Amino acid sequence: MHKVTSEELFQRALNVAPGGVHSPVRSFKGLDRAPVFFKKAEGAYLTSVEDKKYIDFCQSFGPLILGHLDPEVKEEVHRMVDTAWTFGATEIYSLELAEWITSTLPFMEKLRFVSSGTEAVMSALRVARAATGRNKILKFEGCYHGHVDNLLVKAGSGLAGAAASSSAGIPAEVAAQTVVTPLDDEQKLQEVFHNFGKDIAAVIIEPLPANYGLLVQRQEFLKKVAELCEKNGSLLIFDEVISGFRVGLQGMVEKTGIRPDLVTYGKIIGGGFPVGCYGGKKELMNMVAPSGDVYQAGTLSANPIGMRAGLTTLKKMQRLDGWNVLEKRTQKFTDTVRAGFAKKGLPLEVSHSASLFWIHGPSKTPIRTIEQIPGNQGATFKGLFLKSLEKGVYLAPNAYEVGFVSMAHTDEILEQAAQAIIDAAE
Ligand SMILES: *Cc1c(COP(=O)(O)O)cnc(C)c1O
Repeated sequence: MHKVTSEELFQRALNVAPGGVHSPVRSFKGLDRAPVFFKKAEGAYLTSVEDKKYIDFCQSFGPLILGHLDPEVKEEVHRMVDTAWTFGATEIYSLELAEWITSTLPFMEKLRFVSSGTEAVMSALRVARAATGRNKILKFEGCYHGHVDNLLVKAGSGLAGAAASSSAGIPAEVAAQTVVTPLDDEQKLQEVFHNFGKDIAAVIIEPLPANYGLLVQRQEFLKKVAELCEKNGSLLIFDEVISGFRVGLQGMVEKTGIRPDLVTYGKIIGGGFPVGCYGGKKELMNMVAPSGDVYQAGTLSANPIGMRAGLTTLKKMQRLDGWNVLEKRTQKFTDTVRAGFAKKGLPLEVSHSASLFWIHGPSKTPIRTIEQIPGNQGATFKGLFLKSLEKGVYLAPNAYEVGFVSMAHTDEILEQAAQAIIDAAE
């Protein structure tokens, strides 16, 4: 009997979806092969339609901090599926998660659940604009905040901070509402505040930028961002969609000691289901409808299955001291990979932070901005990715995406993966 292949399925998918995918980075663009089609995911593993098993370091780009199909989460999800799918009314499930979050993360005084990280960011910007009566948003080059019109921008020409849209379909007038500046550069930041300060409603930042490589920021730089916000009356928004519940229970707020006005979450908060969240200072969140006049709504917001999956995931991580466990495992794993590269004299390095890692070419200094990313990153990654795939390791299929270690990645699995990656790199 003929067994279907990923190549055949991709040809079919190309007929029905742009690029054959429902989110661009899944497409293996530039990697000269069809993406692998999967049919099953469990723990640290993915199984393709060809019945090949892969150790998965993509983990759906972050949500699955316990790994795929965690037994405890699975049980809760099954229970919820048998209880209700969606209410469109008040219910006890979102209340429980909201109370857990507000009591565990004191800076989250009030919050609102939505269905994606993009939606959380979009809504937080609206609140910031309403609260300040200003229009401009400042973002950093190399940070990703979802596909919000306002934030799909890159540095433009002319005045420091000027932005141009980075996607077709975004009016120049919309892009002009955003100001862009590089990470890791206090002087440019100061200049931008000097040019636009009194018009900036909010500064949004990934406090641990992990969507364009892993660009770990200096604490002094983050402090400067907070200080300039304060001085200029601009709100500070931490976009913790990727770092929230990833680097620790209280995310980068805890790690940096900086208290932002608003924080956005996604990914882990839904335990693998579509959940986003924005929240922070009570007086700001009270501006949201129906208590205030900032309109924001969602038919499927606070979906009960996502609420249960999220709460079960977070409580389990807390119970197991999961963040500490993951940090140690990831340290050991990246040390092994680094040592393997060095021993074979391979021109590759591994950056890591908490349970995130990123493989790249050699760099004399820590990589903190997109300009510092070695120029051959695309080519370097392509070879490594394709060979790793052959050896049964699935990295996120893009040179600028980070790897995610989950609780399902045991030391044994990580040892095996490290050897496969080292061999692949050779
Ligand atoms: C993933 C991500 C988003 C977008 O979230 P979606 O759920 O994909 O809309 C926004 N900000 C950051 C920092 C992210 O990592």
